[in-house]
Amino acid sequence: MNKDFLPLCRPAIDESDIDAAINVLRSGWITTGKQCNELETLITQQTGATYAVTLSSATAGMHLALLALGIGPGDEVITPSLTWVSTINMISLLGAKPIFVDVSPHTLMTDAERIGPLITPRTKLIIPVHYAGAPLDLDAIYALSERYNIPVLEDAAHALGTQYKGRAIGKTGHCIFSLHAIKNITTAEGGIFTTQDENLAVRIRRLRFHGLGVDAFDREHQGRAPQAEVIEPGFKYNMPDLCASLAIGQLKRIDAITDKRHLLAHHYREKLNLIRGIEPLGLPDYPHRHCWHLLIVRIIPHIFGMNRNDFIQALKTHGIGAGIHFKACHSQKYYRELNNEHMNSIDERLPNTLINSEQICSLPLFPDMDKAHVERVIQAIINISEQQDEA
Ligand SMILES: *Cc1c(COP(=O)(O)O)cnc(C)c1O
Repeated sequence: MNKDFLPLCRPAIDESDIDAAINVLRSGWITTGKQCNELETLITQQTGATYAVTLSSATAGMHLALLALGIGPGDEVITPSLTWVSTINMISLLGAKPIFVDVSPHTLMTDAERIGPLITPRTKLIIPVHYAGAPLDLDAIYALSERYNIPVLEDAAHALGTQYKGRAIGKTGHCIFSLHAIKNITTAEGGIFTTQDENLAVRIRRLRFHGLGVDAFDREHQGRAPQAEVIEPGFKYNMPDLCASLAIGQLKRIDAITDKRHLLAHHYREKLNLIRGIEPLGLPDYPHRHCWHLLIVRIIPHIFGMNRNDFIQALKTHGIGAGIHFKACHSQKYYRELNNEHMNSIDERLPNTLINSEQICSLPLFPDMDKAHVERVIQAIINISEQQDEA
């Protein structure tokens, strides 16, 4: 690690993962094949999901899941604005309308009470987001889903290794996980769709590779039979084996990776509690296991004496990286202009989204850190805070 700069994140790739990737390079088979199959099996074991499909990204998974669930023009999809833009982009590209739901001011997650009042006859899907590594209150959300007969697609990009009431995220429902470089387990770029629904899994598997049908040859050999036929026009969203090979070892170490994140997160939270004007997120009050994907704090400007953007800049001068997860999507240029006339009413409906969009900051958290790195971040924050007092 560069001694001078502490980045927001560094992947948990070790020498054995690098060896695994080199073996794939030497094997002569570098794109989708055995490694992807093994990764899919490991994901089903880890999450308890019945089916797992590897993809080029979570965004690709979102695109295919929306298509497979029949989302199109005129449909409404309820999702937070405080999420990654890919969800809103995919909904919009399919001609559907994102209906933004507010989030809890403490956990940044939405819930059934907030979603319920937004349901209309046009609502076709709910996409809630497991946030920062904590789980949504799924029981209440699925009760709502059943009452109105509207499917749920869980954005589990942050939630590989997270548990809700003793069950892993992915064990029920349809989920999308991300294996992007900053996520807890990574293939550099990649995503996984999990479901218990065989038809949906088959459809997404087909759509990820040109819409080609799967045949017996395919199941027995790596790669696809040259005689496979296009069943419907599809995309090119498959994951290469070279990438999949990186995640196999990480997944086998997932408990150790998550435990280390826990240790660091708890150390952070203990120390952060002593700094005025810095507020860590609240934790859900139902039983859960956090995977500590992100360590998010809020900078309360009138108490800390500085706003979030200046705070991130100040951290940088101390050689510390930070991030924003996330800026409210509806306030991005394109969506702002699209909703120009309705901006005020959207803003009014999303008070917790707006304030958090301005105040949240993600601090460095990755398994190769140790407590001394946390101390360094804490000391930098204390220095920044004291400089404010002097100013
Ligand atoms: C990272 C992320 C995504 C997108 O993942 P990609 O693999 O980069 O496409 C979607 N939603 C959330 C909440 C994310 O953090």
